[in-house]
Amino acid sequence: LGGSISRALQQMSNATIIDEKVLNDCLNEITRALLQSDVQFKLVRDMQTNIKKIVNLDDLAAGHNKRKIIQQVKAFSIPIYWPIVGVCEAVFNELCTILDPGKPAFTPKKGKPSVVMFVGLQGSGKTTTCTKYAYYHQKKGYKPALVCADTFRAGAFDQLKQNATKAKIPFYGSYTESDPVRIAVEGVERFKKENCDLIIVDTSGRHKQEAALFEEMRQVSEATKPDLVLFVMDSSIGQAAFDQAQAFKQSVPVGAVIVTKMDGHAKGGGALSAVAATKSPVIFIGTGEHMDEFEIFDVKPFVSRLLGMGDWSGFMDKIQEVVPMDQQPELLQKLSEGNFTLRIMYEQFQSILKMGPIGQVFSMLPGFSQELMPKGQEKESQTKIKRYMTMMDSMTNEGKFILHKLTQNLLTELDSSNPKIMNESRIIRIARGCGRPIMDVMDMLEEYKRLAKVWSKMKGLKIPKKGDMSAL
Ligand code: GDP
Ligand code: MG
Repeated sequence: LGGSISRALQQMSNATIIDEKVLNDCLNEITRALLQSDVQFKLVRDMQTNIKKIVNLDDLAAGHNKRKIIQQVKAFSIPIYWPIVGVCEAVFNELCTILDPGKPAFTPKKGKPSVVMFVGLQGSGKTTTCTKYAYYHQKKGYKPALVCADTFRAGAFDQLKQNATKAKIPFYGSYTESDPVRIAVEGVERFKKENCDLIIVDTSGRHKQEAALFEEMRQVSEATKPDLVLFVMDSSIGQAAFDQAQAFKQSVPVGAVIVTKMDGHAKGGGALSAVAATKSPVIFIGTGEHMDEFEIFDVKPFVSRLLGMGDWSGFMDKIQEVVPMDQQPELLQKLSEGNFTLRIMYEQFQSILKMGPIGQVFSMLPGFSQELMPKGQEKESQTKIKRYMTMMDSMTNEGKFILHKLTQNLLTELDSSNPKIMNESRIIRIARGCGRPIMDVMDMLEEYKRLAKVWSKMKGLKIPKKGDMSAL
């Protein structure tokens, strides 16, 4: 998905104006990618509609005077980014909203017996997750216990027994009793007597007929009166997630979701469906087969992963740190006059270096080339940027140049938006001045030309007045 988004962004950066088509193209790219991450088609479509409502095209195109958009985007020095950051952040926020059903899940209290029933299809990871959940709470000072109410699959009780023994958690089950309701009730009663405060009921995930499974779940739930029914979902379930979650919700009062196997390839887009279908939050994720490979669900990193964008929210915060809003008007003024100078490039490089690894995200955004910051070569890119900066430093360093007149020219060169007059002999002198090969200087000027071309689209753009900006 990261690739799709950069492609979408690339498309936007190639567009001279942000019109509806560009916005739609961008959204469509993101949509396609979300579908590939198993986010349900209906959810994606609704999200698209919402975003079109939130993101006003005129605001985006004009990029001025619109506090709403600017606030949403929070900070970005360059209006050409606003639509893109705006769309991406809107997508990000929408996905976070979908994952938040608005009410927290039941949390067990220490010293007071709670019953938690696990449901989900065979192989989704119920039995494994039961133990993880018990172990997690045991470490927090709870007294958990495990009840095996899966009488359908041979070996189910042995599996739970093994897990429970390993974690030193009391367990209950039977090799001979075939009635899951009976075992569940017996187990719950026994552990209540033993003062366990977290009684976990593991159930079957398969039956000869599907309807029988759901009827069994309904009966176990009715008999044990769980405080929480947990729906366990395999992250790789795909588009089937919604129907599956809904089917369980119709038989038992599902109150929370756990997504397993997040250590695999699946991005877990089905989690959004599970939340939508059960109207309950995801509370944990499973990240491996071992007992401690279990984490509290955190919406933002999950959505970032879904979007393949690294830590998007961290990225936004960082940008705000690096690019103070009050510096913007001057910069915007210059850019709107078509004055992208070497000095601006220098300042942008400075920002990137200040951002550290996150500066890498810039390679996704228009204006910063893949060549300058190719993926997986963060170190090399930084070195290259530093080298460019050293060269520009030496352009302002009078002492390094033999001819004073030339230095004067170069000084103005940094602030000129037209350094095309750089001829061979000047390039040679700059190279000598900073002690770098001539090729390096030419590379640097190439990068400048490329960036200047991108920024030339800014020319004539209406910019916010100083008052508008400081009011933010
Ligand atoms: P159940 O049929 O729903 O009880 O599922 P199980 O608990 O028996 O799990 C089915 C398989 O998935 C087992 O091989 C587990 O080890 C594996 N499994 C469960 N959770 C995870 C997880 O978070 N990551 C990985 N990699 N494997 C898991
Ligand atoms: Mg099982």
